[in-house]
Amino acid sequence: MMFDELGLRPELIRAVSDAGYSTPTPIQARAIPVALDRKDLIACAQTGTGKTAAFLLPVLQRLAAGERSRHPRALIVSPTRELAAQIGEMALLYGGHLRVRSTVIFGGVGMEPQTRRLRRGLDLLIATPGRLLDHLGRKQVYLGNVEVVVLDEADRMLDMGFLPDIRRVLAVLPVTRQNLFFSATMPGEIEELIRRTANDPTTVEVTPRATPVSAIQQVVHPVAMTRKKDLLASLLKRSDVGQALVFTRTKARANQLVRRLEHSGRRVAAIHGNKSQSARTRALDGFRSGRIDTLIATDIAARGIDVDGISHVVNFDLPNVPEDYVHRIGRTARAGSSGSAISLAAPEERAQLAAIERLVGKAIPSQTLAGFEVGPSVAGESGKPARRRQGAQRRYPGMGSARPVAADGAVKRRPRRRRRQPAA
Ligand code: AMP
Repeated sequence: MMFDELGLRPELIRAVSDAGYSTPTPIQARAIPVALDRKDLIACAQTGTGKTAAFLLPVLQRLAAGERSRHPRALIVSPTRELAAQIGEMALLYGGHLRVRSTVIFGGVGMEPQTRRLRRGLDLLIATPGRLLDHLGRKQVYLGNVEVVVLDEADRMLDMGFLPDIRRVLAVLPVTRQNLFFSATMPGEIEELIRRTANDPTTVEVTPRATPVSAIQQVVHPVAMTRKKDLLASLLKRSDVGQALVFTRTKARANQLVRRLEHSGRRVAAIHGNKSQSARTRALDGFRSGRIDTLIATDIAARGIDVDGISHVVNFDLPNVPEDYVHRIGRTARAGSSGSAISLAAPEERAQLAAIERLVGKAIPSQTLAGFEVGPSVAGESGKPARRRQGAQRRYPGMGSARPVAADGAVKRRPRRRRRQPAA
């Protein structure tokens, strides 16, 4: 399948070729024709699948065709500022050969410049829910001309508590419109929202997000919670570590980590919800340009970060939600390059590790690093104190049960032990 077989206008085909894409990704190949048909669409696809172009290209095509209006004719709602900004950039890129006016509005920055841009007239509005409602409340934006609405990362919006805001936004849109819903997962609330909103939608699904890209090398390093910072500092010194994205569970831990790594020779920055918008933008731009080589992030702040060339994703803390593991590690090994996902697992995180392994359907190879052994009190699977040496591939003591692990990490089923028959 080629881009010119999807029904896109030549200007858009030229733009994707400018962007360097030769063939559509699976989500693009399947979603674009449906969206071009002006049908409602439900697309299950995670970041990294090319989903942004899957909705932007048909939206741009629709905008290029219709009559211009002062008010937006297409609305894209995105959960985070970073994601909204990225969609805005992609809209400029893909719309480069069309006369489509777009603007991005999100919170954390002044309203006034946004209001001015809204007043100037536009075709495509890309917004985060809260700020959009602010502008709506002040009657600074009129959505009565919207012909197509995109909800991007709908499941994230649910996680972040935006569902009521989304409902309020949808309520002011014209009833006759096209709905394009994108979500990595389909929690019940999102299904319910879609059932109430969409009109005979077509569902398109690509690789379930619970399957991490096979190009990503995954490893778990058992380590005591208190030694994680030292372990990370020594990992980051390895010569194969280029751009590293490090996830922490909390903002406070992200800040602590920045302080610990500041004198490690790495160029470190953090992004999380307490940072100002300009600090976040600076950190992200720095990471993208390579000026910063270690970006420390919390899950929410990292939503939708799309940076190529990340060599390592480090789970400094394991995520509480196993799906986040897949989300996190999918940031590396982009576009056919290789990548590593390293997880630091403290004994108190064994439940999270077990949940992640259940989700990905295999045991993640575990490797205890010399000098970071988890204390002699923890016995290995054999019951004897485990011998630790650098490079030893073994299961984390006591974690994930004593299932045998093949070299490829696949879990072999143990022959079931016969249950003793209860006495009659
Ligand atoms: P997304 O899933 O929208 O976050 O896109 C992930 C990455 O894939 C982005 O860096 C896009 O620039 C890139 N991309 C999107 N479509 C294609 C394509 N057809 N071929 C190659 N790369 C693409």
